[in-house]
Amino acid sequence: MFDTLSDRLTSVLQNLRGKGKLSDADIDATAREIRIALLEADVALPVVRAFIGHVKERAKGAEVSEALNPAQQVVKIVNEELVAILGGETRRLNLAKNPPTVIMLAGLQGSGKTTLAGKLALWLKKQGHAPLLVACDLQRPNAVTQLQVVGERAGVPTFAPEPGNGVGDPVDVARRSVDEAKRAQHDVVVVDTAGRLGVDEEMMRQAADIRDVVQPDETLFVVDAMIGQDAVTTAEAFRDGVGFSGVVLTKLDGDARGGAALSVRHVTGQPILFASNGEKLEDFDVFHPDRMASRILGMGDVLTLIEQAEQAFDQEKAEEAAAKLGTGELTLEDFLEQMLAVRKMGPIGNLLGMLPGAGQMKDQLAQVDDAHLDRLQAIIRGMTPEERANPKMINASRRQRIARGSGVAVRDVNDLVNRFFEARKMMQQMAGRFGFGGGPGGGK
Ligand code: GDP
Repeated sequence: MFDTLSDRLTSVLQNLRGKGKLSDADIDATAREIRIALLEADVALPVVRAFIGHVKERAKGAEVSEALNPAQQVVKIVNEELVAILGGETRRLNLAKNPPTVIMLAGLQGSGKTTLAGKLALWLKKQGHAPLLVACDLQRPNAVTQLQVVGERAGVPTFAPEPGNGVGDPVDVARRSVDEAKRAQHDVVVVDTAGRLGVDEEMMRQAADIRDVVQPDETLFVVDAMIGQDAVTTAEAFRDGVGFSGVVLTKLDGDARGGAALSVRHVTGQPILFASNGEKLEDFDVFHPDRMASRILGMGDVLTLIEQAEQAFDQEKAEEAAAKLGTGELTLEDFLEQMLAVRKMGPIGNLLGMLPGAGQMKDQLAQVDDAHLDRLQAIIRGMTPEERANPKMINASRRQRIARGSGVAVRDVNDLVNRFFEARKMMQQMAGRFGFGGGPGGGK
């Protein structure tokens, strides 16, 4: 998502580099190119107009800074305007003063509502809440079961009409779910509603009826970022039919141009609260306009990366490993632990994609894959604890056994062991130079 837009904007802005002063003509030309880039990314026309208007006005206006050169100033303005279009400040979920907080999900069929319900449930649980999922999509066959499945995966119960009582009335289910939440002390209720392939009146009426009964603290409009310009018309229909307090963008991992993501806030006036970027329950996060903007401008989403690293990071283990570095005691067991910690943060390609400049290194990045890391993991797991602690003892016949056991070639095992020795030697040298590590002669 955003790859083309990101490439285009980066190159437009790069063209300004080295210019001492920008004339009005330079600014007009740049604005024209940004406009084309946004339109090609499928951003809605009114949004493009507003965006370009602001950028031009500010770039030509009095905003002259001593600290920045003209090109940097334009980058700064474009970045700030992108943040503004995406919603400005990060908007947090509103929680009710008197629980349960009721969150209602609305959107077209296939937009990712049910998946999102599971993601939201898991996320809320991690924040210390006790959510309850509510199945009010009683139209689509299997919708209830699908919600129960994602609920189980998230470790969160699902409230659904008892089987055998006919289809059930979604409004009634919604009403009873809030009582159930109070009884069983759930502090957040997530209501999944029915969607249709296109907007239709009956669906809107049903959603509005559910809304009137549960009086949601948040109504989240779930929209598939891959549907392009249609996202805008659908959002308008839901705004007028049911009303919503926030937007969730799904399928941001898809190969789309991203215009929907850039338009929906401006067009509906409602903020984007969350973004989904994959089918797994963990592929979900709070939406941060500033981080998304710097990602689009190719500055990399360093903040997200840092936050994820903090979550996955086990301080104690890492310090232990760092202390061992200096003394040359680092083992393959430590290596495996560190690798698993990094992998907790998500697929390695996603992580690398967040690094600054990653957009321009796509080909190289494609070669660092999870399959390779899986192989390394399998090889280390195939070793005995003694061998992991002291890889020197792994002789030729053991290497063959390990290779067979972990389904790789002997060459791969040799490669790993050799690289491990090299890395350990290099780290010891570095530890000596920089004075870290706990061993004699290592620490300060
Ligand atoms: P609903 O009809 O609105 O409840 O939509 P579902 O939750 O059933 O999702 C429709 C399809 O989109 C399913 O195949 C999901 O696995 C998939 N999906 C949902 N969210 C995402 C996402 O963020 N990325 C990708 N790639 N697929 C998603």
